[in-house]
Amino acid sequence: MTDKKRPAAFLDRDGTIIRDTVYIRDPDDVELLPDAAAAIKRLNEQSIVVVVVTNQSGIGRGLLSPAEYEAVRARIDAELAEHGARIDATYMCPHHPDLAGGCDCRKPGLGMYRRAITEHQLDAKRSLFVGDRWRDVAASVSLGGFATLLDTPSTPDEEFDRASHQGIGIAPSLGDAVDRYLHALPALGDRQ
Ligand SMILES: [Zn+2]
Repeated sequence: MTDKKRPAAFLDRDGTIIRDTVYIRDPDDVELLPDAAAAIKRLNEQSIVVVVVTNQSGIGRGLLSPAEYEAVRARIDAELAEHGARIDATYMCPHHPDLAGGCDCRKPGLGMYRRAITEHQLDAKRSLFVGDRWRDVAASVSLGGFATLLDTPSTPDEEFDRASHQGIGIAPSLGDAVDRYLHALPALGDRQ
């Protein structure tokens, strides 16, 4: 019997795929991080569903419009395509975190992950969770899977401690995180 659920790579966007600039609204400011396209291409080649999960509270704050966000998203897709790499789906939370009651989608909430898992029939326990902040890998604590926190200038020290405490690995780049994940993937399948 084969399991139709597919493994996914849940990737943060800013600071993970592209250089982190605050509330990016101009497509010309898109700059892929050095090994991001190659890493995503490796995931594509292994039939791992590449899902971007991103908090964009600048929209809720009125600092960028949905159209500006979409233009940036399209530019990222275009730049990745030049390198033969493809994002399969993107989930975005536009909400301001200070909204009364909050929302269920903003990371570290699970809302965007749960939608992706349902809509794309994903197997979270065989999936990768990666980003430069704790909130990007926190879902793995609830959902299972293989998580890696990236060591970047924007990652607070206490988040490394938190990740280590949860048994989450730390890597210098998306490419390194993907290498580790693809190496671990066969064993992840064994422990379903
Ligand atoms: Zn939200």
